[in-house]
Amino acid sequence: MAASISGIGIGLGLSCSSNLSKSLHSSQSSGFRVKMTVSVEDKKKNYTLQKSEEAFNAAKNLMPGGVNSPVRAFKSVGGQPIVIDSVKGSHMWDIDGNEYIDYVGSWGPAIIGHADDEVLAALAETMKKGTSFGAPCLLENVLAEMVISAVPSIEMVRFVNSGTEACMGVLRLARAFTGREKIIKFEGCYHGHADPFLVKAGSGVATLGLPDSPGVPRAATFETLTAPYNDILAVENLFNSNKGELAAVILEPVVGNSGFIPPKPDFLEALQRLTKENGTLLIFDEVMTGFRLSYGGAQEYFGITPDLTTLGKIIGGGLPVGAYGGRREIMEMVAPAGPMYQAGTLSGNPLAMTAGIQTLKRLKEPGTYEYLDKITGQLVQGILDAGKKTGHAICGGYINGMFGFFFTEGPVYNFDDAKKSDTAKFARFYRGMLEEGVYLAPSQFEAGFTSLAHTQEDIQKTIAAAEKVLSKI
Ligand SMILES: *Cc1c(COP(=O)(O)O)cnc(C)c1O
Repeated sequence: MAASISGIGIGLGLSCSSNLSKSLHSSQSSGFRVKMTVSVEDKKKNYTLQKSEEAFNAAKNLMPGGVNSPVRAFKSVGGQPIVIDSVKGSHMWDIDGNEYIDYVGSWGPAIIGHADDEVLAALAETMKKGTSFGAPCLLENVLAEMVISAVPSIEMVRFVNSGTEACMGVLRLARAFTGREKIIKFEGCYHGHADPFLVKAGSGVATLGLPDSPGVPRAATFETLTAPYNDILAVENLFNSNKGELAAVILEPVVGNSGFIPPKPDFLEALQRLTKENGTLLIFDEVMTGFRLSYGGAQEYFGITPDLTTLGKIIGGGLPVGAYGGRREIMEMVAPAGPMYQAGTLSGNPLAMTAGIQTLKRLKEPGTYEYLDKITGQLVQGILDAGKKTGHAICGGYINGMFGFFFTEGPVYNFDDAKKSDTAKFARFYRGMLEEGVYLAPSQFEAGFTSLAHTQEDIQKTIAAAEKVLSKI
């Protein structure tokens, strides 16, 4: 079932919708189009990163830290990043010609596999008609209908260009609707890089060890209150001391931005009760979990419907997209239906809509999440077993296409628990895996992702690589 790896680390104890717990027989899984059957064998004999090194050295003079998003720079795992030439299915190739099994998936979007033939064909067709209209197009209706029918909380949706933008918009909306300014966020949860959220944020901020960022005015975070994840008492205290002032509680319903951390049983339910009682809006930031934990996201998986939801990553199918949505009465506050202003030159552009539509179509086919459950379960169990066998403290867990493990005894219920991980060991493990042809997120504090293109062979190779590397570090 899509839940915990028993006995080790994170116990999920999830109450999930039972239709997701069916397991798929291996004979059925052959229905998924696997684009590449490639071999990583014997590639590492001459594992060199010379071209990557040259390219990255040049990049460092051109862009801050050589990258356009911090975690890509590999700072927390040492060495320097590999520079990518191409991706296909579950694999990627760097500019030195090395091949990797990829568990980053462009940080989530690539859930049906990279550079899917049908997505590429649809994009090529759309492109013939142009790349941006700055005016309404039919494709927006199509994706909006798909999102609305999939995600329980969403009756109306606004498309934007990134998860960050989605979270900025939803925050303004929550404040506009409630007429209140304070919000609660959780330590280690990442909601993009907008000022009000850069307080105890996870992801790159966690990786770099920055408690927050210079340049964020105190006034911008003054109304942002924080609590440890999974700590309902701390949330109750905040509600008690800020009666009638809280606009929203925002969270990752399953944390991915300080490593994989699922909610304790009843945590989401308690948040729903508290927010309802206090006239506060509950916001699920499903930029990562949307269409990944199930077709209807974490809210469908756990059966808890928030007031508002943010999406991103998967719904853009590899192109830049974000979205926020929720109950009609709230969404109708958004301009031009209502007075809350938010806009975007490229929002709803036909290319991003097309990639999103094609990706969701594939995900909607029967058996997809069961397949993700099966292969991700095998992967995580294999890594944890390998860790045990080689005497490492390790814990981990997964839900369908999202997983994580920490080099610590566990259990991990929040960011402070996660920070007990042996990050130096993770760095050694990381470099070892890279050499074995396995590309993981370059930080202990990021979740991993599988896709429909990952094969049994990929999983078995990854487990074998993990065993080999774990026995050496
Ligand atoms: C990735 C992510 C964001 C930010 O999305 P961008 O597209 O990178 O701006 C926000 N929230 C969560 C939960 C995310 O995982």
